[in-house]
Amino acid sequence: MAKQAESSPGFPGVPERLYEGYIFDLDGTIYLGGELLPGAGRLIPMLRELDKRVIFLSNNPTKDPREYAEKLTGLGLRTPPSEIVNTIVTMTQWLLHNHPDATVFPIAEEPLKRALREAGIKMSEKAEEIDIVVASYDRTFEYEKLQIAFDAIWYHARARLVTTNPDRYCPFPGGRGEPDAAAITAAIEACTGAKCEANVGKPDPIMLSTVLDLLELDKEDCVMIGDRLYTDIRMALDAGMPCAAVLTGETTTEMLEAEPSQDKPTYVLDRIDRLIPGQMWKDLGWFEDNG
Ligand SMILES: [Mg+2]
Repeated sequence: MAKQAESSPGFPGVPERLYEGYIFDLDGTIYLGGELLPGAGRLIPMLRELDKRVIFLSNNPTKDPREYAEKLTGLGLRTPPSEIVNTIVTMTQWLLHNHPDATVFPIAEEPLKRALREAGIKMSEKAEEIDIVVASYDRTFEYEKLQIAFDAIWYHARARLVTTNPDRYCPFPGGRGEPDAAAITAAIEACTGAKCEANVGKPDPIMLSTVLDLLELDKEDCVMIGDRLYTDIRMALDAGMPCAAVLTGETTTEMLEAEPSQDKPTYVLDRIDRLIPGQMWKDLGWFEDNG
């Protein structure tokens, strides 16, 4: 299906060059639920062998980078926590760079709070001390936390509201899901009248600038790969970074064809290992049914 589409005029093809940095979405791109997608298990080790930098992105702030690294390693893709950038990492870095002296009230689960504590960021539950309320995906959210945020933002008129990620819900295999950070942000906005001022998750390019700082690479030397047009691809286009949509998750060729040309990704891949040039496939003896 993808190959047919690739041959039609105006439809993005596959990369015929290598990049220095490869930034991957996870679900629908590297794995689907509990299984690696075809080609992922040989592509990632090959990129590392070629001395390319690899980063995996996630908007989820309830899991520590170590947990993602363990999941990938458990699926057969040995990965150190340093190759995971989720919104725990981006929020910590964003606060350190932009508000190093701020007192923060994280509406968050333990992994984000632990990362902020370890980074030396001041935290408080006293509304009169809080400069920044961080709304996140928090399954321990309760009325008392809303009251503290309300007092800090509205009553004391001092705190600003930011969020880890703008997702409305976190999808689960089988069609269910859980309310995500957007629900917490909306509750605070509704009672205070404040507007959330920053989001450090996809599709905000803040996420990619954090990655580029960590990799010490320029955006032209990296490529962002993901399965969602309105998050992964949107973010890369807004950051001016080359990007590839992979058709193993949410996006279909029909959805791509319907996109206006300025919103189309640089590349389209029917499977993740098409990221390396076709000639390399031949040289490596790769075929679709052996990866
Ligand atoms: Mg995805």
